[in-house]
Amino acid sequence: MVLIPLGALLVLQVRFLRSMEQKTISAEKNWLRNSLEMVTQELESRYRADSEAALTVTEAQIADVTNIGSQFAKHHVPGARAFFSMRFKHDMYDAGFFDAHGQERHPSHAEADAVKMATVSWHVAHKWNRVAEPLLYVDVRDPKNRIILRPVVDAWWHVVGVTGVILDESLSKAAMTTIGTKALKAPRLPNSNVIAMRVGERFPRAIGGRDFITQPLGFVFTNWRAGVRDLCASPEEVAATGFRSNMMWTGGAFIVLLGAVGLAVGAVARQSRLSQMKSDFVSNVSHELRTPLSSIRVFGEYMRLGRVEKPEKIREYGEYIEAESRRLTQLINNILDFSKIESAEKKYHFCSTDVVELVEQTVAAFEVPLRDHGLSVAFHAGPVPMLNIDKDAIAQVLVNLLDNAVKYSNGRKEVEVSVEAVGAEVRIKVRDHGIGIPAAEQKKIYEKFYRVGSTLVHDVKGSGLGLSIVMHVVKAHGGRVELVSAPGEGSTFTIILPLPLDEKVPITSTEYA
Ligand code: ADP
Repeated sequence: MVLIPLGALLVLQVRFLRSMEQKTISAEKNWLRNSLEMVTQELESRYRADSEAALTVTEAQIADVTNIGSQFAKHHVPGARAFFSMRFKHDMYDAGFFDAHGQERHPSHAEADAVKMATVSWHVAHKWNRVAEPLLYVDVRDPKNRIILRPVVDAWWHVVGVTGVILDESLSKAAMTTIGTKALKAPRLPNSNVIAMRVGERFPRAIGGRDFITQPLGFVFTNWRAGVRDLCASPEEVAATGFRSNMMWTGGAFIVLLGAVGLAVGAVARQSRLSQMKSDFVSNVSHELRTPLSSIRVFGEYMRLGRVEKPEKIREYGEYIEAESRRLTQLINNILDFSKIESAEKKYHFCSTDVVELVEQTVAAFEVPLRDHGLSVAFHAGPVPMLNIDKDAIAQVLVNLLDNAVKYSNGRKEVEVSVEAVGAEVRIKVRDHGIGIPAAEQKKIYEKFYRVGSTLVHDVKGSGLGLSIVMHVVKAHGGRVELVSAPGEGSTFTIILPLPLDEKVPITSTEYA
């Protein structure tokens, strides 16, 4: 029932993450587009600004066209192969050619032709005494010798000459890539070092969808495009990675939530089991109290009224009354002890004790009255040093174990008890050949009120307190309880108490069971 809203929540979350994935894809694409836009703007403004600086000269500066090399040496234009300057004199002209460093040199045929083609209209403008704006003009008729030129004008804006730069394709490509890559590394673009930038006419398709997104260049190389791509991942891959990690977090949160729900359900189940056990306890205990009390009353009445005369009958009834009152004392002791343990009022009085003697006396007091009813307890003890324990509490532990050994004996009332010191421990073992305890129940039997649910156990009355008291007392002594048991084969409970540090006994295992 609880899982339905959780499932709905999970479905909603997955849908939300899917829409986030789509948004991430478009955000990534926008980021690349913005980067590209910035790169193309940077390229255009660099070309314009650098050409403007190199080609802006006065009429006086081109009076001797060969003398202008220093101007070109000072100003660098990215991808420039050569500069030229020209001064028109009616039908004639003077021209100077320079390399990229401003050194005079001869132009190649192709360069000379391209320059002629680009300047002829300005020569005509000069002859016809035309005025012109001294702006940058571009001639790309020969793509291998693209030219940027600027008319030189006199004080009345008449064209008197031109200056120009011849751009080399491969030098320009390299220069633009450097400029673009540098622009991408600007601090305002986060993660831009993962972007690859390239210019050219054609772009190869990349593997894994990491294609270049491109846009045309705006100046001189207008048939070229600039392109950028993410080196590490395509927008789809970035979004898918984000989706996966978000899904993992969601899954983790879901598991935690399920765990919490599981714990809550477990707590409720435990609580209801506990209250069921409590009500069983009340009915068991009232039965346990009422039955012996009414027998004691009836036998006592018989004896008082003199209805029983035969001595053996009087003995038999007396034994019965004794055994029943012993059981009652045991039950009441357990209940009182349990309530003290629950309210943390249980106090222990530790004193140096001969454990062998204590166990032997307790076994004898327990066995003798029951001997005629078929109980036999085999006792075995090795040398054990004195132990600092609460005598009464340990005796009660032993009585509880013996009581269980008899109660769950299934008719075979042969019990074996042993005490021995092994290594740094004293082991008190109680072994029976009764109904045994299934492995799945072996941890639970120490819980308060817990009783194994088998029919064999149901025929026997009990409070479910005995073993929880055993466990509490043994733990208060710094010890532990071990159990070896199998259904139908009997059980061996071992109380293990630690020896004082200076009393270690060598391990010469005289194992009993
Ligand atoms: P109870 O009063 O029911 O005997 P305990 O706390 O002494 O309560 O024991 C808890 C449960 O453990 C018992 O109800 C019984 O099912 C199981 N148990 C304890 N000792 C033995 C044993 N020697 N043989 C088989 N089952 C046992």
